[in-house]
Amino acid sequence: KVILAIETSCDETSAAIVEEGHKIRSNIIASQVATHQVFGGVVPEIASRKHMESITAVVDRALEEGQCRWSDVTALAVTQGPGLVGALLVGVAYAKGVAMARELPLVGVHHIEGHIYANFLQYPQLSFPLLCLVVSGGHSHLIYLQDHGTMKILGSTRDDAAGEAYDKIARALGLGYPGGPLIEKLARQGDPTAYELPRAWLKDSYDFSFSGLKSSVLNLLNRAKLKGEEVDKAALAASFQEAVVDVLVEKTCSAAESLQISTVLLAGGVAANGYLRQRLEKALQKKDKKLFVPPLELCTDNAAMIACAGYYRLQRGERAGSDLNGQANLPLIRTES
Ligand code: ATP
Ligand code: MG
Ligand code: FE
Repeated sequence: KVILAIETSCDETSAAIVEEGHKIRSNIIASQVATHQVFGGVVPEIASRKHMESITAVVDRALEEGQCRWSDVTALAVTQGPGLVGALLVGVAYAKGVAMARELPLVGVHHIEGHIYANFLQYPQLSFPLLCLVVSGGHSHLIYLQDHGTMKILGSTRDDAAGEAYDKIARALGLGYPGGPLIEKLARQGDPTAYELPRAWLKDSYDFSFSGLKSSVLNLLNRAKLKGEEVDKAALAASFQEAVVDVLVEKTCSAAESLQISTVLLAGGVAANGYLRQRLEKALQKKDKKLFVPPLELCTDNAAMIACAGYYRLQRGERAGSDLNGQANLPLIRTES
């Protein structure tokens, strides 16, 4: 099986060729970061237009680098949602066009399922049950994976996602976009105990909340500005990151313990954070549990992860019809009827 996958949910146009679900032959990512940077965030209308401009070239490069002809492709996978609807539609329409013209099977993939499957790309031997902490630009979920295609959301964010909090704090600190990597870098030079910031534990729940933390940091910055006081930005970045990581690590460990799961996965853009990876790995090790994390380049948005998730969907016999549509708020778990 040679799958051509397409991902256009946000601000990267990506296409990948993946063989047998796991062997990445190519994974082309055309990032629009430079375009959106001047606006301090992703502008949806511009994102759609950029996807339209790039998609053909990105797919062609994926085929070329994957040393693959159109006739070698046996199936297609595309991100169906969630994401920016105009951006999703570019990928979905393109994939449907190709599927129809070349009479290839097509599956729609949930973007977050893709992030989770970045782990299966790298570690095909993972065995169930698994616990996965998904932390990305728009999501913070703790997910129980019983088997391929069977998952349960144990908790999710009640307000801001972890990555969103990083991005907003980075913007407030004047660091730029995307904020996650910039905060991580700055935090390395700061004292994480310098500023006392709140942690939303939400007792007895695996839900997350980062808006209180975000407000605290923003208030602190505003107060300092009014009083004309200096803020130690590195220390504030470190203190903020410490608060985020404390909660993510504690909740993930306690879920793994109470559900007696010995293998934990980390996924999503924030999984690229070295401090989170290190803290979570250590905490799990203490409880004789193992952490798996995708390599950096597979943590953020890419089409190879969509191909891997699509592979398992195709294996289950799933096929999308010509009515496949981009869905901005596609639910991760379909309620079976
Ligand atoms: P979603 O996957 O929820 O739809 P998205 O696709 O926009 O959202 P991703 O591309 O998965 O998000 O991840 C991007 C997010 O990851 C951004 O919020 C970014 O700041 C964050 N991020 C990337 N690298 C790091 C890092 N090293 N530390 C912290 N956050 C990071
Ligand atoms: Mg992105
Ligand atoms: Fe993503």
